[in-house]
Amino acid sequence: MSSEIPFNIPSFVGKELYYIAQAVDGGQLSGDGAFSRRCEKWMESAFGSSRALLTHSCTAALEMSALMSDVGPGDEVIVPSWTFVTSASAYALRGAKLVFVDVRDDTLNIDEKMVERAVTSRTKAIVCVHYAGVPCEMDALKTIAGNAGALLVEDAAQAFHSQWQGQPAGAIADLGCFSFHETKNISCGEGGALLVNRPDLVERAEIIREKGTNRSRFFRGQVDKYTWVDLGSSFLPNDLSAAFLYAQLEHGDEITRRRRELVGRYTSHLRPLAETGAFKLPAVDLATVANGHMMYIMLPDLAARTQLLQAMRQEQIGTVFHYVPLHSSPAGEQYGRAASDMAVTNSVAERLVRLPLFSSMSNEQQDRVITALYRHFGHDAAAYLGDDRAYAA
Ligand SMILES: *Cc1c(COP(=O)(O)O)cnc(C)c1O
Repeated sequence: MSSEIPFNIPSFVGKELYYIAQAVDGGQLSGDGAFSRRCEKWMESAFGSSRALLTHSCTAALEMSALMSDVGPGDEVIVPSWTFVTSASAYALRGAKLVFVDVRDDTLNIDEKMVERAVTSRTKAIVCVHYAGVPCEMDALKTIAGNAGALLVEDAAQAFHSQWQGQPAGAIADLGCFSFHETKNISCGEGGALLVNRPDLVERAEIIREKGTNRSRFFRGQVDKYTWVDLGSSFLPNDLSAAFLYAQLEHGDEITRRRRELVGRYTSHLRPLAETGAFKLPAVDLATVANGHMMYIMLPDLAARTQLLQAMRQEQIGTVFHYVPLHSSPAGEQYGRAASDMAVTNSVAERLVRLPLFSSMSNEQQDRVITALYRHFGHDAAAYLGDDRAYAA
């Protein structure tokens, strides 16, 4: 019996403990230490943002974006229903009404045409999510947000290293939010960052992250005492997390390269099986359009998906579905409304399956997943793929 293939294993690049030891020797473990600054500088130069601010999660970065949007009761925020809870809850916490918009059936990203129809005079912010690391239609969204006078925020939690027309995801809209949770490409267990892409928003972002104080200006010598000047909270990670993260930032392109390679292998090796009608591959080529964050397939219906997940569990292969649509969740119904019938979101939520993917995954492990999928649908992988060594059960 072969061993378990989990859905995710966090990446290690080798220098994490070395940098953590340096951070300990350096003696400052609180936020904004030497490694936090190194991570921020690294992101500012890689992404060309006015300012990168390390946070303890993407959720924290999203909550900062909500504070910066100045939303309150009576205001509306447009978000996709097909996303993680905190893309939306960050704004509900400020008292805003959420307006859930459906996704496109090709990219599973927020449908820009429906965003345009959902805008009202009360729209204060638009959150777009680069699902599976596939960039949203940023030109259209920027135009819509500009016309509405709304803040445009990228939830780029899954999109580190993704590019949209040569621009890095996260650095295209007013604000971008990254996650370094251990399930993401680049990680430090729990962590995140806010990219501030407009110079005029930098000072406010620094104040909000420093509990609403002007501490950053004080340390730069721009004011002679520091005090409470705005709403804010503690969004800083400790410097040990930043030390771990710095190693991952330095070697992140190797992680992304391997993940994209694995996504490409899944795509080409599963194509013959998809052509039998067993499931659909993503409508966009995730290996080239995205950053290797995710590989998913689309089953014909809920019953077929339930059977597949059960079969994979028996094979000890970690396959999982994804979101429960926010518009039909208990809190989503309380704090928001659906802008349309949500046909795509509802359908995708019942049919999508994510396959195991981690940078340390070997080709042999991946072949076991592929073989198990062929077997589940009554086919012999070797017969399709023509290599009976790699595809021996
Ligand atoms: C992972 C994720 C988040 C939350 O990230 P944390 O760092 O765990 O707070 C938010 N949005 C999306 C789209 C995500 O995938």
